[in-house]
Amino acid sequence: MTEHTIDTIAAIASAPGAAGVGVVRVSGPAVPGIAQAMLGRVPQPRHAHFAAFRDADGELIDRGLLLHFPAPASYTGEQVLELQGHGSAVLLDLLLRRVCELGARLARPGEFTERAFLNGKLDLAQAEAVADLIAARSQAGARAALQSMEGVFSRKVEALLQSLIALRVHIEAAIDFPEEEIDFLADPAIGQQLQAARDELAELLREAQRGLRLNDGLRVAIIGRPNAGKSSLLNALAGSDRAIVNAAAGTTRDVLREALSLDGVALELADTAGLRETDDEVEREGVRRAHGELQRADVALLVTDSEHAQADLALFEHLPKQAERLLLINKIDLDGMAPHSERRSDCRWLWASAKTGIGLDALRHELKQLAGAGSGEGAFSARRRHVLALQQVTAHLDQAGHVLAGSRAGELAAEELRQAQHALGEITGSYSSDDLLGAIFGSFCIGK
Ligand code: GDP
Ligand code: ZN
Repeated sequence: MTEHTIDTIAAIASAPGAAGVGVVRVSGPAVPGIAQAMLGRVPQPRHAHFAAFRDADGELIDRGLLLHFPAPASYTGEQVLELQGHGSAVLLDLLLRRVCELGARLARPGEFTERAFLNGKLDLAQAEAVADLIAARSQAGARAALQSMEGVFSRKVEALLQSLIALRVHIEAAIDFPEEEIDFLADPAIGQQLQAARDELAELLREAQRGLRLNDGLRVAIIGRPNAGKSSLLNALAGSDRAIVNAAAGTTRDVLREALSLDGVALELADTAGLRETDDEVEREGVRRAHGELQRADVALLVTDSEHAQADLALFEHLPKQAERLLLINKIDLDGMAPHSERRSDCRWLWASAKTGIGLDALRHELKQLAGAGSGEGAFSARRRHVLALQQVTAHLDQAGHVLAGSRAGELAAEELRQAQHALGEITGSYSSDDLLGAIFGSFCIGK
């Protein structure tokens, strides 16, 4: 991490546009001086002062509240000043300009939260949760982000980290006494400890994957042969005519996306072009994108009808392993079948009609469940990079188990554990590069 030069930053912290109240936030060592200049005297800590905010010529900009949070009991851990005025973009700009004249500079996106992280107020996963909370698109997502901001996810990561450290210490003790190494490593306690860590990790990975869905929304790729009713289904679920429905095969030539919220749970639906061999250039591009869409999907929803269901199952072959599979037998209004739903091997079958809407409630219910609805009190949000890190940890622990079981090479197992620890530490930021921090905080909005 580079040396952090501490200057004083300022930004409008409230959303742009007219509002009842607007907030200018300032953080850094110049705050006491700025606060005194704005109030005309030294403010009381954490006390709301009614103040007349004036420009350099003493002309009134606005009247509002001034709050000083002395370090370290503040959001950033530094001296923090909040000026609450009327929510006018013009007035807030004047206020911000005045604060900069008094010794602050404009903050970069996420810089307040970055300072909170650098001062140990939040770890990295908590800081990311601040951004996710602000950007949440569903109630379930917001609730989960709040849990992560409160440290629910971080504490589980920390607990697992402690287990890994204990295990590594145990193994390294064995390495330090080479004449006893074989016996030490044969100690069933090591195997049990490793297994316990793997179980803990598997549970955490499941929770993080659910947290990712709550955060990003469940990604559903709608696949199926041309004319199966994919566009009609997307329209029915989204309640609009966004995708083009056409009776001629091969009309949907691109991937159409629709974000929607089903009872407070976020979904991202993608209608892919029909998967089939084709000579048409444009359509071939659509098919290529459909395959790309499948690689990133949480759920593959295959739309077919009673006649083609068996044959179309082959389309699931393009799927990445972890994607959930749903099979929709569409157009049951044509053959008079009743809407129902049943589990068959690793796939749920649903009978419905995109045109009349019958059977679609069962599909909505299924999608909500997969998106993590009703996942309960402790559910926390996670990001893709967290899930990837946990998958890396899994690979290292698997390898450690392999090495211990086979050659009982303590050095190699300890090295795997060290790498597992490193990957885990990237989640909370105990190990993090400037690039990672730049990418994370750069995506925040200004003023956060
Ligand atoms: P896509 O190519 O898979 O996107 O299929 P479309 O959604 O464009 O639909 C193809 C044709 O099937 C259109 O004429 C739709 O009106 C029709 N269709 C779609 N779903 C149903 C359904 O549930 N029942 C009936 N009767 N027709 C449907
Ligand atoms: Zn279509």
